[in-house]
Amino acid sequence: MWYNTVMIAKLILDKKREGHALGSAEIREFVDGFTRGEIPDYQMSAFAMAVCCRGMNARETADLTEAMMKSGRCLEWDVPTADKHSTGGVGDKLSLVVQPLAAACGVVVPSLTGRGLGLTGGTADKLETIPGYNASLSLDDFKRVVAGSGVSMTVQTAEITPADKKLYALRDVTGTVASIPLITASILSKKLAEGAGTLVFDVKCGSGAFMKTREDALALARSLVDGAKAADRRAAALVTDMSAPLGRAVGNANEVAEALSALRGEIAADRPDVALAVELAALMVSLEKETSLDEARRICRERLADGSAFAKFEVMAAAQGGDLAAFARLLEKPTFKFRIQAMRSGYVAAIDAERTARAAFMLGAGREKAGDEIDPLAGVTLSALVGDKVAVGAPLATLEKSGDPDGLERAAAELLKAFEISSSAPAPVSLIIERVGAE
Ligand code: URA
Repeated sequence: MWYNTVMIAKLILDKKREGHALGSAEIREFVDGFTRGEIPDYQMSAFAMAVCCRGMNARETADLTEAMMKSGRCLEWDVPTADKHSTGGVGDKLSLVVQPLAAACGVVVPSLTGRGLGLTGGTADKLETIPGYNASLSLDDFKRVVAGSGVSMTVQTAEITPADKKLYALRDVTGTVASIPLITASILSKKLAEGAGTLVFDVKCGSGAFMKTREDALALARSLVDGAKAADRRAAALVTDMSAPLGRAVGNANEVAEALSALRGEIAADRPDVALAVELAALMVSLEKETSLDEARRICRERLADGSAFAKFEVMAAAQGGDLAAFARLLEKPTFKFRIQAMRSGYVAAIDAERTARAAFMLGAGREKAGDEIDPLAGVTLSALVGDKVAVGAPLATLEKSGDPDGLERAAAELLKAFEISSSAPAPVSLIIERVGAE
């Protein structure tokens, strides 16, 4: 009997549904068929769901990574390179700080990044709020920006990891994001195709992350580090807390503004999110340059304080068409705002990241379905952070959106539920929960 690609795909789906391991050739055929457009989205969605439910062993995950990496071109660099990737969080604008900071320390950073996934924000969506910024560079332009600026941030395209580009969008709307093999293959295929020699992963853990427990986050961190090392990369991961949003801003343009403030040294260097950005950049520097982590931390703090990390961001943004003066004007545009206040006095004991992200989503900061437009100015800005003392009536956060005020009050009600106020101060906790492959 003669089988066409769609029929073969069905047999592969049957096999995974029954919980069997797929062969290397089967995985390759599935990904290649999908990339060519012969395997339709509905079969790929069923594949993603079968993997979510049945899992994949390490060999299958490596095969899926390789097939996705080879779905487009793979880059090679004649200088040492490094990159950092987050598994996705709320208010997680750290790439906007870490990548230019590492570049300011002399590390070349070719960074293939992503759009919003589930409730988590995407670096590309944030960067695109800078008027003119092109986050979908051709490979020639990507190479040109990396060569000229020492850092570039762009997304998957038809040229590089097209399989991840298509699958990423499908997973976002089919409830198939939170899977260790799928996240591993998605991240590693991009990182291996971009050709970075050193990889640092920020594996988020908690209500605002895809991995809700420490065990799952650790398993994902090991899967990423092992996969990267098997592909001959230097690699390390930090498992970091994502039970509360990172920093004050959750949205898109407001997150870029906060990242720019951090790069300009306007935020205290010991604020937990800024300290984590320095730690991630220091890991990149120490692995890539084979220096001690302490020395790398020292250099990173210096480059942040002396403005050279900000200068790297400026050069990269300009090289990708971004106009920071127009961005500053965008932030001045009138929006509809709603402020929530503390209902009682006490200490902010918790700010639930997932609820905060949901509130930002309700305002239009994320996509409900593939292709939805994002409101660049929609989002939440926290006035109080975990540990702060607040009096009754004190501002907790401001919600913001453009267009019309619809949905502001509903989102505000959701955000209010994210805050837990207690009579005693919460014990300070470190954002770093575990280190994998790092000192
Ligand atoms: N980031 C990615 O690039 N892919 C995922 O699956 C999750 C986070």
